[in-house]
Amino acid sequence: MAISGAVLEGRRIEIHGTVQGVGFRPWVYRTAHESGVTGRVHNDAAGVTIEAFGDFAALERFIARLHIDPPPAARIRTFQQSPIPAELEGDFVIVPTVDAGAPRVSIPPDLATCKQCAAEIVDPANRRFHYPFTNCTNCGPRLTIATGIPYDRAATTMAPFEMCPACRREYHDPSDRRFHAQPNACPVCGPRLTLHAFTGEHIGVDDPIAAAAEALRCSMIVAIKGLGGFHLACDATCSDVVMRLRERKHRDEKPFAVMVRNLASAETLAVLGDEERRLLSSVERPIVLAPRREGSALAPEVAPGNTMIGLFLPYTPLHHLLLASVDAPLVMTSGNRADEPIAFRNDDAVARLGDIADLFLLHDREIEARCDDSVAAVIAGHGVVFRRSRGFVPRPITLSRPVARPILACGGQLKNTFCFAAGDSAWLGPHVGDLDNLATYDSYRDGVARLERFLQIRPEIVAHDLHPDYLSTMYAEQRPEAIHVPVQHHHAHVVSAMAEHGLPGPVIGLAYDGTGYGSDGTSWGSEILVAGLASFVRVATFRPLPLVGGDRAIQEPWRIALALVVDAFGHDLPPAASALFEDIADAEIGLVTDLLRTEMPLPMAHGLGRYFDGFGALFLRRRKASFEGQIALEWNQIADPSVLDAYPYGIVGSGNPSQLDLRPAVWAAVADTVRGATVPQIAARFHNTIAEATAALVRRVVSEYGRLPVVASGGCFQNARLAESVRAALAPEHDVRLHARVPPGDGGLALGQALVADAITRGD
Ligand code: ZN
Ligand code: ZN
Ligand code: FE
Repeated sequence: MAISGAVLEGRRIEIHGTVQGVGFRPWVYRTAHESGVTGRVHNDAAGVTIEAFGDFAALERFIARLHIDPPPAARIRTFQQSPIPAELEGDFVIVPTVDAGAPRVSIPPDLATCKQCAAEIVDPANRRFHYPFTNCTNCGPRLTIATGIPYDRAATTMAPFEMCPACRREYHDPSDRRFHAQPNACPVCGPRLTLHAFTGEHIGVDDPIAAAAEALRCSMIVAIKGLGGFHLACDATCSDVVMRLRERKHRDEKPFAVMVRNLASAETLAVLGDEERRLLSSVERPIVLAPRREGSALAPEVAPGNTMIGLFLPYTPLHHLLLASVDAPLVMTSGNRADEPIAFRNDDAVARLGDIADLFLLHDREIEARCDDSVAAVIAGHGVVFRRSRGFVPRPITLSRPVARPILACGGQLKNTFCFAAGDSAWLGPHVGDLDNLATYDSYRDGVARLERFLQIRPEIVAHDLHPDYLSTMYAEQRPEAIHVPVQHHHAHVVSAMAEHGLPGPVIGLAYDGTGYGSDGTSWGSEILVAGLASFVRVATFRPLPLVGGDRAIQEPWRIALALVVDAFGHDLPPAASALFEDIADAEIGLVTDLLRTEMPLPMAHGLGRYFDGFGALFLRRRKASFEGQIALEWNQIADPSVLDAYPYGIVGSGNPSQLDLRPAVWAAVADTVRGATVPQIAARFHNTIAEATAALVRRVVSEYGRLPVVASGGCFQNARLAESVRAALAPEHDVRLHARVPPGDGGLALGQALVADAITRGD
């Protein structure tokens, strides 16, 4: 390469972040060639190091371009440059990887199909025309096919596929987009699709995708092997097949996610803002919740009674080809039976899904690690990840303060994820699900062991929830590590939000959650804490409600509604209140009131979620919830945004914790019905009451502790209306920090546990 007559200079550029396994070095290589610099690039333990030589102008051009258009999946965390002595090099080269050192940076998340690969598979002249396993260094499977470290082909489930000469040439050519693309494949040498009957029997067809598409158009249910597990797919515009899928899957009303061909198609089904569009097309490709468009082609059974719909775009070539061929939105729900982990192996899928699916679209590339689809939504104008899994895991979260010793945090019971932390990074594991059956527990243990192996972390500290009966707590107890740190549930939530915003504490933490085991051994629910990393003070909570029948009360929220009105009015209900229970049999009401009357201690709930259930069931007249949070969701969605006033409430007690008393709101809401208020008006006033009461509680805390940053965490803050109205009620004095990359619900709990355990064990 010609070096101009100007003075030759040298620069060392060190780039840290997610820069390995994402096509970074080939991109640096091309950029160097195009900018006219020479030198070398290599991977090292912390990231990528470049030594570049050229005249001042060429180097500046090169460095500017490094900042402008890095590969889509790369995340540059730090970029440092320093002058080095100039060397007269003939070329720019990629140097083989220097000793792996800390291999923990080496496995990236799975990446959605890039634009170039998507274009190749629809180009009849391309050798990968219609090839469903096309990928390159910018896209394709990663974590879900990795069997070991370091991440290269031999340690993936692509190992049995020997590359053909054409693929091998690409793989070894630094100027090629497939240079060191570990899952590189083509129709000659790579994995293949096959079509199977529900019995598993192979069905010989020329084009399995076209055949599956035809079956989907004819209202069949097809189980499709994806990236991190199986999906059950059907035509989302056809009520009959969606209902059949619900029956066979034993899933009553919980919404199904829908995959659409592209953004334009998404717009026909939902009302999208810029942030929804950005999330939908992001390289992580989460399911994005958005308001459903009225009169869309979607069958109502996809998300019964729900004003929101979960949409996502194709993220593998198989999805692209299938969606193009079907040309209709598809329900794509996790391939599992209720409560079990998602199926990910062919034989297992046929065994478990054979009586749900009519057909199987399988392939011979093994999925090594299951990884569910991620879920996100827009709250207060910003994307919030509700479920952080495929596409995100195992990308680390950077900590503002490094942990002193490596930590494993075991997470909670529901929507479990675990977390490893070492140095300035924390790795949340994939979504495991509810740890209430053996299959999920096994999947949890496998997941912990796998990530531990991949990251090569030897934890010295194990953090876990205070609850003695959580399976994650029991797992923690079996771990060999010497130091075990129990962490209070709501404290962990608040600290997960502090971690996200790099706050050292103290903060005022709004932990509005379902339930969590309290430091006093009772069940806590929605709490306001003044929290540091190592400790907290519980400054406010909600007046407890008795749960008649324990978990049954959550499945039959009319029981909570009855407890709510009995708590407010006593046992002699005014006619306006008893009228709200007309459609429930006297005998059933008698049973619950008897229990409420006895001296027997009932489990008490402090959770705002239960107030949502109670108010919702009362005024929506809903007896049952077919999934947890269903009533709360409806109650939220029905609220009339134009209603701005609120009900009265009380704050009881001057010590800690003070108690938010919502009985005045119950009185006012029942009186509202007498005056003819509509349900959407009552729902809006309820939401406004919670927001105003929260602001009042925060003001009390400030009067005692001074002004502190306010963070909001806990599952209730997945409710956009609640989060937005709490933010509005506290503005402008306080800028309430919401979650973004870390789930507000229990999916983010483990991150908080890890940081609390770190702080406690260093003696903060
Ligand atoms: Zn690609
Ligand atoms: Zn090939
Ligand atoms: Fe929680």
